[in-house]
Amino acid sequence: MIRIVAVHEHTVPLSFAARSANIAFDGMTASAVALVTDAQKDGRSLVGLAFDTIGRYAHGGLLRERFIPRLLAADPAEYSDGSSIDPEAIWTIVMRNEKFGGHGERSGAVGLLDAAAWDLAAKIAGVPLFALLADRDGRPTDGRVPVYASGGHYAAENDAEALTAVLHEGCATGHRRMKIKIGGAPMDHDLRRIELALDALGTEGSLALDANGIFDIDSARACLAALDGYPIAWLEEPGSALDFALNAQIAAEARLPIALGENLFSFDDARNLLRYGGLRRDRDLLQFDISASYGLVEYTRILNLYEAQGCSRAQFAPHAGHLFAMHCAAGLGLGLAEVALSTTSLFGQITATVPIEGGVATLPAEPGVGFEALPVYDQLFGEVAPK
Ligand code: MG
Repeated sequence: MIRIVAVHEHTVPLSFAARSANIAFDGMTASAVALVTDAQKDGRSLVGLAFDTIGRYAHGGLLRERFIPRLLAADPAEYSDGSSIDPEAIWTIVMRNEKFGGHGERSGAVGLLDAAAWDLAAKIAGVPLFALLADRDGRPTDGRVPVYASGGHYAAENDAEALTAVLHEGCATGHRRMKIKIGGAPMDHDLRRIELALDALGTEGSLALDANGIFDIDSARACLAALDGYPIAWLEEPGSALDFALNAQIAAEARLPIALGENLFSFDDARNLLRYGGLRRDRDLLQFDISASYGLVEYTRILNLYEAQGCSRAQFAPHAGHLFAMHCAAGLGLGLAEVALSTTSLFGQITATVPIEGGVATLPAEPGVGFEALPVYDQLFGEVAPK
């Protein structure tokens, strides 16, 4: 039997001086989690690790008060068959006595424990997470996954210079697809940024835009009109994530693809988007954030629902810009993985050492997610897990 003997969590500051259309990141934080077991492999304790997504702050309170005690109180026979652990069983344990609906922030806390359980399961199997996931589906994978680089936030000073520098850095590190912010400045300023980005990307590249939910129907229409004629890969979150009628109206009027879902955190919300959000199955993208949405167990349910309703895995591009989400994208056969364009922030450094060539990333071959090999391992996990 493999027993989880301790679960450690720690809040890590992720602050950086930039903003999107609706938030600044000066005070951003994230949680690091370690599931410590009594099992060993190659003379070392088996520990499952997870690091938060970005943009939703740390989840320490919920983890400490509710979800970690629930997991530690469980009988190991509930989640271990003796030789491995079952992430789906762990998910069921931590969700015990949680009411349906009203998802709030708990989905992010549960998503962390879920991600750590998957890291642990892959380490026990001795394979990288992408291989574990692909094998469960009988899907071939070589650990390569198409990626896009997201960034292009508004800088407090010298915005055009900062944008140009980060775009050139992205091209130099092998990116072909990039995404920048829109909607946080007057449209003429945003159009100048778009032109700078298109120049930097050249004819080989593609550019997407992220409005972070800032538009109402009138400003969305003005934006779409201003973008007419520009080669834009997709417009992301033009309206509020939970305003399905607004999203349906925008989708009905937009020629370019729309990307939605990064701020919907459950199967229920994802189903509402499918029912009421006006999604176009031939072009729109789906960006549910795996860790923010109760983790991979719930994400798999969302994938299955969308596939049953005529969508393709190629339309899925999970939000996060994170090594865990990249493994999921590769292992589940999704269309795109996201990575952070700027490698100067701590969050950007999580994926900075993943090689990218021609817009395709090659994931690390270490068992699990591969956090241990990151140069920033100590900054992320120094407080919760041994190297
Ligand atoms: Mg976004």
